[in-house]
Amino acid sequence: MAGAGRRYRYVGPTDGQASVPDAPEGWPIRSLVDLDTYLAAADPRDRDEPFTYVIDLGGTLRLAPRRSEHVACAGGGEVLGAGEIAFAGERGGWVVTEVSNHSTGYCPGPISWAAVAGALDKAGICRPECFTAAVVFRHCLDCGERNLVRDDDYICALCGAELPEDVEPRMMAQPSTDQRSR
Ligand SMILES: [Zn+2]
Repeated sequence: MAGAGRRYRYVGPTDGQASVPDAPEGWPIRSLVDLDTYLAAADPRDRDEPFTYVIDLGGTLRLAPRRSEHVACAGGGEVLGAGEIAFAGERGGWVVTEVSNHSTGYCPGPISWAAVAGALDKAGICRPECFTAAVVFRHCLDCGERNLVRDDDYICALCGAELPEDVEPRMMAQPSTDQRSR
């Protein structure tokens, strides 16, 4: 079922969005066969590093080479999750070795793990119990900068203001603009 989980819309720079029409959408991975097909066709250089992923609103994992913007991988739309993911193994037996919520375009919260885990389970891909690297994003209430919090250092990198420690950024709490009203 679509619609489970929090939806994240693109909050990155507009030039990221401008690249959407030129870049292909992420490849949908609904099964291990899809993953086999995708990885077999991938450029070997791309296969050596983590992939860009999004979880689309239908709850499906979509992959693109790491150089791709998340917003392009999502076709410009909203997502249930986004970040980077790496696989190890062989045909028919892929395992997720690394997975994060690192996407400055969507800033998904750590709770997006539920959607990521659901998409991997649906496709039959072995996965860890949680993000191997969970990123915390905070929106500066003073200057509006999106910050990636490191080492529990809740200070805005742009203006030096204190960042909220215990609330989700405002941008993540905003209802989606095109959400159906019923
Ligand atoms: Zn600031």
